[in-house]
Amino acid sequence: MRSNLFFQQLQNNYLFSEVNHRIETYQIMHPQAHILRLGVGDVTLPLPAPIIDAMHKAVEELGHAESFRGYSQEEGYIWLRQAIIDNDYRTRGIQLDLDEVFVSDGAGSDLGNLSELFDQHNRVAIPDPSYPAYVDASLMAGRDITFLPCSSDNAFVPDLPAKQADIIYLCYPNNPTGTVLTREQLQRWVDYARQNHSIIIYDGAYEAYIEEDDIPHSIYEIDGAKEVAIEVRSYSKTAGFTSVRCGYTIVPKQTGLQTMWLRRQCTKYNGTSYIAQRAAEATYTPQGKKAAQANVHYYKQTAQLLRNGLQALGYQVYGGINAPYIWCNTPQNMSSWEFFDYLLNQCQVACTPGAGFGQSGEGFIRFSAFSNRKDCEEAIKRIKKLA
Ligand code: PLP
Repeated sequence: MRSNLFFQQLQNNYLFSEVNHRIETYQIMHPQAHILRLGVGDVTLPLPAPIIDAMHKAVEELGHAESFRGYSQEEGYIWLRQAIIDNDYRTRGIQLDLDEVFVSDGAGSDLGNLSELFDQHNRVAIPDPSYPAYVDASLMAGRDITFLPCSSDNAFVPDLPAKQADIIYLCYPNNPTGTVLTREQLQRWVDYARQNHSIIIYDGAYEAYIEEDDIPHSIYEIDGAKEVAIEVRSYSKTAGFTSVRCGYTIVPKQTGLQTMWLRRQCTKYNGTSYIAQRAAEATYTPQGKKAAQANVHYYKQTAQLLRNGLQALGYQVYGGINAPYIWCNTPQNMSSWEFFDYLLNQCQVACTPGAGFGQSGEGFIRFSAFSNRKDCEEAIKRIKKLA
């Protein structure tokens, strides 16, 4: 047996493991300390009642012969795929066929698995900083990556690749910077992909956080996108499904990849749990929608609180308007891990160091609005005292 040597290209520590390790070490050394955890991007509010009700009902159905279900179609139940088309796309003037929608156990799996559709020698372009999964999946597949640096100079909107890119990962609203692309900016990417025969893997995990007008919610709002884009969505941050596990991926037939993805899923994925699919369906009922939106609204308010609080203390902040993340500069030329340690040691506030999201994240930290509201208020007070 020979192992996949490309795994040696991966960084040893997954970002959040290292963050947790440092927090836990501090807590062991200071057992009395109340650490405010404003770092990790996991939701904290409980699942809304209409979603819990739908799951209870689904569990009950599985316990009776007449309503029992076994395997679902690998692509997901038709009733869920239809609800996705009707609610997430048709309302925005986008027409999709049922067989272009693939229900999954979350965006994380699909973002990694999609990599299998492409030849190893395809060149990948990834904005830097970025959600680590795009880089890791590309490295595991042995691909060449061109990083597209994002900084305050380009308002964290990457330039088009100078070198031809075959696969482009884009994530908007962005994790970690919280920035978004306007329609015009996204059109430039779609045009590039059409001219260069590239494919865009568009991660829309934070779509529900879009607040401002003229920000596209789906890449398919852009002319020509169906030819060149795969869109990945998740119920994790939209409806609190990080433990339930459900998401979906749109693979338009015009990309030429729909039959390959279907084939891949039928071989390697036996479908999303019935209970999770019923839960996802419940997010589209009037009550489910209202309750999920209320949770998103709550996180958005927390984002605003963090953004305003840090801005008032003189920090340069990005994001937090159309996204649950606040991207904040480190003071006095501190590195992002130095500032992480400084905040942890001096005021017991935990954030995420920007450098963990790529080289261009150096000099920044990320705060997450999924954190407890009171902890965020307290964190701003503690950081103020440091000044
Ligand atoms: N994409 C981005 C940008 C994320 O931030 C996350 C999770 O934090 C995911 C995808 C994964 O989502 P899921 O829980 O659906 O796997």
